[in-house]
Amino acid sequence: MAYADKQIVCRDCSTSFTFTAGEQEFYANKGLMNEPSRCPSCRQARRSNRSSLEEMDGYVRYGNFASFGGKTPRQMHPAACADCGQMTEVPFQPRGDRPVYCSTCYNKIRPPRQEAPPPR
Ligand SMILES: [Zn+2]
Ligand SMILES: [Zn+2]
Repeated sequence: MAYADKQIVCRDCSTSFTFTAGEQEFYANKGLMNEPSRCPSCRQARRSNRSSLEEMDGYVRYGNFASFGGKTPRQMHPAACADCGQMTEVPFQPRGDRPVYCSTCYNKIRPPRQEAPPPR
């Protein structure tokens, strides 16, 4: 499949910008079928707007790629394991209404699933 540079008119500021062959290939590799409808500077502006809104909410996103696989970094809280008493860290605030286990005990109680992560 061959790509050619393409002129697109930004729907926000009506500036025409180039959707380059390289970008088209990048989009296609990501499985994105839609062309960008905004110029890079409007896209940038929208992105920074959105992230400042999320920060106001006290909620931080790490991007789609980071949340795949459940490996999103989170704030850890120290807690004592309800089974062996060892200090451990859990990704939620321990509230006392449910037991906290260290990773060893947690795996004993609830064996990790062997399933592969779902595709995309
Ligand atoms: Zn624009
Ligand atoms: Zn334990």
